[in-house]
Amino acid sequence: MLKLGVQVSVEGGIEKSIDRALALQCNTMQIFVRNPRRFRKGFLKDDEIDMFKKKFLKSGISPLVVHTPYTLNLASSKVFLHWITVKEFILDLLEVDKLGADYLVTHTGCYKGANEEAGLKKVVKALKKILKSTEGIKTNILLENTSGGGTWLGYKFFHYNFILKELNYTDRVGVCLDTAHAWNAGYRINSEIGLEEMLSEIKQTIGIHRVKLVHLNDTLDELGSRKDKHSHIGEGKIGEKGFSLIVNHPLLRDLPFILETPKKDESDDIKNLNTVRRIYRNELH
Ligand SMILES: [Zn+2]
Repeated sequence: MLKLGVQVSVEGGIEKSIDRALALQCNTMQIFVRNPRRFRKGFLKDDEIDMFKKKFLKSGISPLVVHTPYTLNLASSKVFLHWITVKEFILDLLEVDKLGADYLVTHTGCYKGANEEAGLKKVVKALKKILKSTEGIKTNILLENTSGGGTWLGYKFFHYNFILKELNYTDRVGVCLDTAHAWNAGYRINSEIGLEEMLSEIKQTIGIHRVKLVHLNDTLDELGSRKDKHSHIGEGKIGEKGFSLIVNHPLLRDLPFILETPKKDESDDIKNLNTVRRIYRNELH
């Protein structure tokens, strides 16, 4: 069965996000629980959490995905940024666990002022502290692949293997695969051969079972451009044929798909959701 959702707004109260997802007939969803461009200002109140949970349990939506704010950087070599990332990541994990989130997705971080290996080691160091302070919770962390612009880590899957190996391949950390980022990192996933190449690289490094979620986004940028601007499904370089290969691939078709496509208003979400619904083949397999 197609598991499809979209990034929904929490404007007007966090539980409103569930109404928005249901109105779009989504059976999975992604939200930010706080302003993604600032450090933490406060906490969700107990009654907000209760209201959300009550509505969510009745909604049938699963999994619930939360995205971390852009201010956090697991790979930073700067003392303050490392410190505040660890501190806020722990608070975020504990908070979204209370909401019942299955996954907290984060970008892998950028190593500005250092090098790739030092950056990866910083990610490991940050994650070790985070995991230790949040033992026993249900929300798992997903590291999202990047297009590799600037000093961003996570544009090759051996980066994840480096990190996961250091974490003894804990089940608490998995990977989120973003299609636009993969294309912009140089994976030709709009062709059968290119998609198989990327999947075999995943198999040879982390193993496909560690990919828990797919961010479905198209992009207008060239293959390997290292840019990361998203566009409407089927209207970019990956194109409808590419998405048809991706969403129907036996190794991917049962994963949850979340759209982070541009939206001027709700009609954009409806259009993109309908494109995916149309190309997804529901036959028994
Ligand atoms: Zn994404």
